[in-house]
Amino acid sequence: MNETPKRYHIWTIGCQMNKAESDRLASLFEKHGMQSTGTVNNADLIVLNTCVVRKHAEDKATNKIAILKALKKANPQVKIAVTGCSVDSDVTRLKKAYPHVDYFFKAGECPPWENREEWAQSLPENPPVTAYVPIIQGCNNFCAYCIVPYRRGREKSRPFDDIVCEVRELVRRGVREVTLLGQNVDSYGRDLPEKRQLADLLYELNDIDGLWRIRFLTNHPKDMSERLIEAIASCDKVCEAINLPAQAGSDEILTLMRRGYTIAEYRSLIANIRRHISGIALSNDIIVGFPTETEEQFEQTVKLLTELRFDAVHAAAYSPREGTLAAREMRDDISATEKKRRLTLIEQLQEKIATEINADLLDKELEILVEGKQKGKWFGRTRTDKPVFFEANENWYGKLATIRIDRTSPWSLQGTVAK
Ligand code: SAM
Ligand code: SF4
Repeated sequence: MNETPKRYHIWTIGCQMNKAESDRLASLFEKHGMQSTGTVNNADLIVLNTCVVRKHAEDKATNKIAILKALKKANPQVKIAVTGCSVDSDVTRLKKAYPHVDYFFKAGECPPWENREEWAQSLPENPPVTAYVPIIQGCNNFCAYCIVPYRRGREKSRPFDDIVCEVRELVRRGVREVTLLGQNVDSYGRDLPEKRQLADLLYELNDIDGLWRIRFLTNHPKDMSERLIEAIASCDKVCEAINLPAQAGSDEILTLMRRGYTIAEYRSLIANIRRHISGIALSNDIIVGFPTETEEQFEQTVKLLTELRFDAVHAAAYSPREGTLAAREMRDDISATEKKRRLTLIEQLQEKIATEINADLLDKELEILVEGKQKGKWFGRTRTDKPVFFEANENWYGKLATIRIDRTSPWSLQGTVAK
């Protein structure tokens, strides 16, 4: 292609880290005078930001790449790039399998977040009111089922001052809420010479004028420190929402998963968090049907969720990921039907729990940071990360609204402006 492409389309699936990287890529394109298009059909440049954490996500990415073959044939001028966790080190294999793709680049390579100048270039000029800020890439844990360390590499923390500068700049440009991202945010700083941790970062960011809310994810039960709990409890801008994946309720399964904690330790961590942080909302990730998981072991997961009552649970059926320890050494011996049955049970249980937890919010007045409109209604989230919808004629965008809740469901709340 002789000219710079004018219109781009980015298709993103997967975790918040992918979303953050796509946002930054979009911002770079805009700075080069390009415009976003809603569909692949009228784009000059198409980027697919892919996920392979589960087979379902991988299949979606593979289908999308295949669909683009016809588009490339009809319009050879169009440029296609693939990034995200489907891109491993063997780019030659990928190029051979998908000759219609022009570029492959690994997750985190573009914009290159290790290059502070280039990464800074990708800050959006007109950002939305909320922004993701990656603070640590990769993971050293090698949980037996997980492909992330193989695709995103080992842990690398961003320098402390770079993050603080970036958040200051985002706030100057209008951002009011930041979510600090990492596969394991509790590891933040371990690889840095100054050894400052996530707790230090929270204290520092809490002092930034104009920043109203701070979130972070994901925590790891084996690494979450007492000091971090103290920081969350004492920093007024740090929201009362923690994602703390247990993955399973049985010690035997946790050992096979190589998670590094027992259920007794997990329970005592949750009790400690609830004791110190009032109004905390907790969410969890669960995998059902991990190799050898018996009915009794699955029942232990059900028991854990029933007793600890999480605000949200992201449950998934185990899917073997090539190259991981579990895929290499364990037979995927739970049938698809049985995995589905366990998954449905967890989903039904969680729906009931979330219905009850949210019903307690009826008639309460909650603070919402308004992020925009969805289907004609204003939309924002509580500090505890619950989506709230309300109707109003005034422009609430980017403001804090106090909303009296008059309808609840397991997934979201509805209300009216209280003041
Ligand atoms: N770092 C986080 C942690 O320690 O839990 C989560 C990162 S992982 C990319 C996101 C979620 O995907 C995990 O919490 C897990 O529940 C799910 N997951 C990862 N590998 C999986 C697999 N092979 N099969 C099913 N679910 C999987
Ligand atoms: Fe994957 Fe485990 Fe690392 Fe989370 S902590 S990204 S589940 S290896």
